[in-house]
Amino acid sequence: MIYFLDVILPIPLQKAFTYHITEAEAQFLKPGMRVAVPFGKNKIYTALAYSIHNNAPTAYEAKTIHQILDEDPIVTNLQLKHWEWVANYYMCSLGEVMRAAIPNAFIIESETILVRNESAEISEEDLKDDEFLIYEALQYQSSLKIEDVVSILDKKRILPVVNRLVEKGVLQLQEELYEKYKPKLVRYVKLHKAHKSEEKLQELLELLSRAPKQREVILTLFTLEASEQKPIKVSELSERSGASSTIIKALIDKSILEEYYIQTDRVQFEGGGDEQTKELNEVQTTALKNIKRSFESKSVTLLHGVTSSGKTEIYVKLIEEQLNLGKQVLYLLPEIALTTQLVQRLQDYFGDKVAVFHSRYSNNERVEVWQNLKNNLEKAQLVIGARSALLLPFSNLGLIIVDEEHEQSYKQFDPAPRYHARDAAVVLANIHKAKTILGSATPSLESYFNASQGKYGFVELKTRFNNVLMPDIELVDLADKYKRKRMKGHFSDRLIEEMTETLDEGFQIILFQNRRGFSPIVECTTCGNSPQCPNCDVSLTYHQYRDQLRCHYCGYNTVMLKNCQACGNATLDTKGFGTEQIEEEVKVLFPDKKVARMDLDTTRGKHGFEKIITKFEQREIDILVGTQMLTKGLDFRHVKLVGIMNADNLLNFPDFRAHERSYQLMTQVSGRAGRTDIRGKVLIQTYNPHHNILQQVSTNAYKEMFAEQMNDRYNFKYPPIYRLIKITLKHKDYNRVNLAADWYAKSLRQVFKSNVLGPEFPPISRIRNLFNKNILIKIPQNQSLSKTKEAIMKIDNSFNAVKDFRSVRVVLNVDNY
Ligand code: ADP
Ligand code: ZN
Repeated sequence: MIYFLDVILPIPLQKAFTYHITEAEAQFLKPGMRVAVPFGKNKIYTALAYSIHNNAPTAYEAKTIHQILDEDPIVTNLQLKHWEWVANYYMCSLGEVMRAAIPNAFIIESETILVRNESAEISEEDLKDDEFLIYEALQYQSSLKIEDVVSILDKKRILPVVNRLVEKGVLQLQEELYEKYKPKLVRYVKLHKAHKSEEKLQELLELLSRAPKQREVILTLFTLEASEQKPIKVSELSERSGASSTIIKALIDKSILEEYYIQTDRVQFEGGGDEQTKELNEVQTTALKNIKRSFESKSVTLLHGVTSSGKTEIYVKLIEEQLNLGKQVLYLLPEIALTTQLVQRLQDYFGDKVAVFHSRYSNNERVEVWQNLKNNLEKAQLVIGARSALLLPFSNLGLIIVDEEHEQSYKQFDPAPRYHARDAAVVLANIHKAKTILGSATPSLESYFNASQGKYGFVELKTRFNNVLMPDIELVDLADKYKRKRMKGHFSDRLIEEMTETLDEGFQIILFQNRRGFSPIVECTTCGNSPQCPNCDVSLTYHQYRDQLRCHYCGYNTVMLKNCQACGNATLDTKGFGTEQIEEEVKVLFPDKKVARMDLDTTRGKHGFEKIITKFEQREIDILVGTQMLTKGLDFRHVKLVGIMNADNLLNFPDFRAHERSYQLMTQVSGRAGRTDIRGKVLIQTYNPHHNILQQVSTNAYKEMFAEQMNDRYNFKYPPIYRLIKITLKHKDYNRVNLAADWYAKSLRQVFKSNVLGPEFPPISRIRNLFNKNILIKIPQNQSLSKTKEAIMKIDNSFNAVKDFRSVRVVLNVDNY
C-alpha cells in the first residue's frame, strides 16, 4: 500500500498539496500535526497535515515530506471544520485561514545557512577582501547564518558576495529549520539533595559559620520554603536574603544549592478572582431569564440594551454559569474596546481563568494562550479577545459573547480570510453545540433583522442601570450660528456655554471629531490645487505635530510645502478640521484646563491607548478630544458633556450604511455621558438639524431608524435583504485594469444579469501604485449562495487562464460591508 498526505500550506493555494509518506508515517500522523515539507525551489514550509489517503496526485509526482514536527496535533478537528467553513464561505484558501489563525511562532521557517564546501580547493588569492572575511570565518565555525555574515561584513547587502562565493565553490547554502517559539524558563533553587538530612544540614551550617552571607542565604531559603510551600525563585531568594546573585551562584557551584527551571507563562495576572459577581436588579434578572429561555429553542440571542443598561453584568452571570460547568467561554470585543477596564472587571470576578488574546501581544504570548486553550486548562477558560481569537483551538466551548456586535471592526478587510467575526462566531458556536449572545446598544441592521425574522432570539433592556436618565441630546444648527457670527473657530456659543458650565461643576468633557490629523487637506487659495500622494489617488493630509504632509493609505510623507506646486504662490491653506485642530482650539478657549487627544496618532505602542484612558479616569485630563476610539464600551464616571463637533461628515459618507453607522456612532459616543447618577448632556453640531437620523439619535428611536433604513435597503436591494460580493481587480497599469474589469463584468453579467454593478473606480482609485476597479454582485434572497460562488469561481478560473490578465490581482470579498 502506498500512502499519501494532503497538507495545508500557509500560502494561497486553491487545493491541498499532496506528499508521499511511509506506512509508519501514515500510522503516526494525525490531521492538525505540523510537517515540514519541500515546496517550490528548495524552500521548506511548515504545513498542516490534513488527510491521509492512498490516491496519488495526477498532475505531479508527489515528493516526500521532510519531517514530522509534532507528537500531537496543534490544531483540533473542530477547528479544522470551522476553518473549512471560513475558507468556503469567504472564498479563500485553507492556507490563508491557517496563516491568520496560527501564531507566527508555530510556523517554523527555514533559514538559509552557509556551510563550507569541504571538497573544494580554494586559493586564497582568488578571493576579494570581503569574500576572504567570510571564507576565514568558515575556517573556525562549521556554518554561518545570514545575520552573522551581515555583522562580519558590516553591511546589509551581502547577497552579491554570498552568490560569488557559491559560484567559486567556496560554500554551499543549506536550509535549516528552526522553531520560533521559546518557552520562558524561570530559574528556581532548592537545597542540594546531599544536604537534605538533618545531620548533613547541621554540618553545612557549621561549615558556613565563617561565611555569614552564604549562611544567611540558606536560612532565608528555609524560611521561604516553610512559609510559601512552593518552589522558590532565584530572584525571590536574592531579594529576601539581600544576597547578590553572585553569592547564590557560588553556592550552586559548590553543590550546596541546586538550580532548576520551570516553564512559565509570560502573561500572568496578579490575584483577582475573589470578587463576587454583582447581584442583578429586577430588570436585569428578567433579561437573564429571557436569554436562557430563548437559548432553549435558539442558538443565537440578540441582547439589545441601551448604553449603560448593565449588559456586561448579565454576560458575567452567563459566563459564571458556563465556567462552573467546566466549559470554555469566548468573549469577543472589537480590537479597540479591549481595554484594561473590562479585562480588570472580569479578572476581579474570574481571576486566573481569564486569558486575553490581543493583536498587540507578542508571538510567544499567543502561543501560550493557544496551548492552554487546546489543553483545556483552567487558566484559559475564559478567553477575551478581538476577532482573531475566534480561530483559537477551543476544545470545550459553551458560550460565545459578541459584545458591541454592530462594530465594523469585526470584519476583516485585508488580507484574506475576509471574514466577519460575528458571523463566523455563530458558526463556531454551532460546531461546538454552544450558544452565542450578540449584544449592543445599537444593533446592526442584519442582526436586528435576523431577530425580527425569528432566526435569532431577542431580549431587550430599555433603561439604564439604576434608572439613570438617558443623556439629554441637543442639536445645534451650524448654518444659523455662522450666519449670526456665534462661532469661535469650530465651537458654537452653545457648546462653549455648556463646556464652561460642566468644567465649573468639576465634570469632564469628551469632544468627538471623526477625523484624525490637524487638518486633512491642504488647498491653494489661488489656484485650488491640493498636494497629492504620488502613489495613491488621494490628497495628502497635514499633520501639525510633525509639520508634515502624509498619506493615510501608504504612509508617504514630506515636509509641509511652502509654495503651491501648481501655481507657485505661497497661498497654501488648511481646509477641513481634525482632532489636532480641535485640541488646539480648546487650548485657546480654556487655557487653564488640561486637554488631551485620543486618535491613531497618540495611541501607538503597546500601552498608548491605556495610558490616556487611565489619565482620563484619574481625572488628570479635563477635556478629551478623540475619534471613533472614544465610542467603544468605555465606562467613565465623571463625564457629563459630550460634544459632537460635526455630524455631517458622518452622514455624507459615500456608503450605503452611512446612515446606520452615523446613528450607531453618535448614540455610542452620547452613551459616554452621565453614566452614574447625574444626567449627561450631548451637543451635536450640524448643518442639517432636521435630518431624520439626527432626530432619531436625539430621541433614542432605534426602531424608527431600523424601519426607515430597512425601507431603503428593500428599495435599493442592499443587505440584509440582498447579499453582496465585491470583486476588486488591481494592477499598476490603468488600461490593463480596465480591460480586465470589463472582461470580468461581462462574464458575470451573462450569469447574473442586472445584479452585476460596475466595473467602477472607487473614490480612491489608486492605492500603493495599483489601480483598483470594483465589481459588485447583488444576490437576491432566493438565489443559492453556494451556486453563486461556484459560478464566480468558474469565471475566475477562465479569467486566470487569459495570458494578459494573469498579472491582475483579483480580490473576492463576501459580505464586503
Ligand atoms: P453596559 O454594558 O450595558 O454599557 P454595564 O454593564 O457596564 O452596562 O453597567 C453600567 C454600570 O452599572 C457599570 O458601572 C456597572 O458596574 C453598573 N452595574 C450594572 N449592573 C449592576 C448591578 N447589578 N449591581 C451593581 N452595579 C451594576
Ligand atoms: Zn499614498
